[in-house]
Amino acid sequence: MSVMQTDTMMTIDPDLSWQEDALCAQAGPEFFFPAPGASTREAKQLCGACEGRVACLEYALAHDERFGVWGGLSEKERYRLRRDSEA
Ligand code: SF4
Repeated sequence: MSVMQTDTMMTIDPDLSWQEDALCAQAGPEFFFPAPGASTREAKQLCGACEGRVACLEYALAHDERFGVWGGLSEKERYRLRRDSEA
């Protein structure tokens, strides 16, 4: 995900306070929105050390974020998680 793109939302929605400590804010958007087929491994490693990981993933699932790495999961992994939780 790209925290840089949601700065405006941070001041409006207190539920986005987890973004203040988001490690991805220090990385470029291409890091979390890799080209199709590119590795998401480095982004996931950064997520693994991020204190906002759980809140980030919950946000992505709640808002049906379709692209990029959020909370340590790729779009395919979030899709599977959502699909399996609905089964
Ligand atoms: S869990 Fe990953 S994508 Fe989410 S805020 Fe942290 S570094 Fe960014």
